[in-house]
Amino acid sequence: MSDHPAYPVGLRLAGRRVVVLGGGTVAQRRLPSLLAAGADVLLIAPAVTPSVQAMAEAGELRWERRGYRAGDLTDAWYALVATDDPAVNAAASAEADERRVWCVRSDNAEAATAWTPATGHSDGVTVAVLTGRDPRRSAAVRDAVVEGLRDGSLGAPRHRDRLPGVALVGGGPGDPDLITVRGRRLLAEADVVIADRLGPRDLLGELPPHTEVVDAAKIPYGRAMAQDAINAALIEHARAGRRVVRLKGGDPFVFGRGMEEASALAAAGIPVTVVPGVTSAIAVPAVAGIPVTHRGVAHEFTVVSGHVAPDDPRSLVDWPALAALRGTLVLLMAVERLGAIADTLIRHGRPAATPAAVVQEGTTPAERRVDAPLSDIARRVAEEGIRPPAIVVIGDVVGVTA
Ligand code: SAH
Repeated sequence: MSDHPAYPVGLRLAGRRVVVLGGGTVAQRRLPSLLAAGADVLLIAPAVTPSVQAMAEAGELRWERRGYRAGDLTDAWYALVATDDPAVNAAASAEADERRVWCVRSDNAEAATAWTPATGHSDGVTVAVLTGRDPRRSAAVRDAVVEGLRDGSLGAPRHRDRLPGVALVGGGPGDPDLITVRGRRLLAEADVVIADRLGPRDLLGELPPHTEVVDAAKIPYGRAMAQDAINAALIEHARAGRRVVRLKGGDPFVFGRGMEEASALAAAGIPVTVVPGVTSAIAVPAVAGIPVTHRGVAHEFTVVSGHVAPDDPRSLVDWPALAALRGTLVLLMAVERLGAIADTLIRHGRPAATPAAVVQEGTTPAERRVDAPLSDIARRVAEEGIRPPAIVVIGDVVGVTA
């Protein structure tokens, strides 16, 4: 075979017949992108992996449960030959040659007429990398390019679909690796980032020098006005045509006032994109080793704000009802009122011995955890000097270990 490089091309397969021979792991890996391209996939294989079978059962492709027969490539625009029998692969490839059907062959790249590049996607861009005979290197280059596009370290300005407006981005619980890929990309593309005290502050340090970072906690006005001032700042920056990211801790809609900001922006006629985040309610217990559900232990978890005391007339929480539940309770903003909350739960029937844990600054290097029975947890938390932000987990899941 020649040493000429392959000629790259983007096949537009929508509605076009692609024949896949073999239903093993090679087919399993390739089928999703063929299906995503809209190909009319005919799969011929006596046996397939369970995931391939699921695609057939879902009607995503047609599966003929049999071996290859001469003539199977009639009508094919493209073929993937990946059976575990080299003789069959050779015969099918020969048929492909005869019919001038480009054909990828899993067992013998040299003999194939087409190669599958390592591909990845980032925000409407498809990256495809071919390195000839070094698939690991292709994958590594692909990863580097996709990662660079996602985190903005690879400068590739988007001219056409530059969206004005504000993205409400959930930054995750604190560890900078726990923001979503989309959140990270939007951060990298932002002109202005308005951040809170909570969330992945380390990410701010990675921003390019021209990105303006506004600390929401430092926006002037009194405490009551703070939210209005944040809304006003968001609107002002967006109206000036800047790409604005409102970076929030955890998920924007979990006790994050996300919808208040979204509706203020909507009222001002500014487009809003919501990017969900990894909420501390689930992630902080998880990273501390506590599953919020566990088979045979808890079939529900309830996330509750403890920012007002149980007997406060402003409270919207039905504490007696929560006390009657058997599953997991996750409390946010509850450190200061933990004593009153635990007493209320016990008074209304939750056993005093229920395991409880409090995790301060979860997913960060400062993470601390204190465990005690429900009746004792508030005292232990005070004793250990646990401070917000902290998550309280109450329920038998606290005792579950790997
Ligand atoms: N929107 C956020 C929650 C905001 S309310 C989210 O989805 O995670 C603020 C509360 O979240 C804090 O008082 C604390 O209870 C909890 N919290 C957020 N980050 C935390 C962390 N890293 N460790 C422990 N608790 C955290």
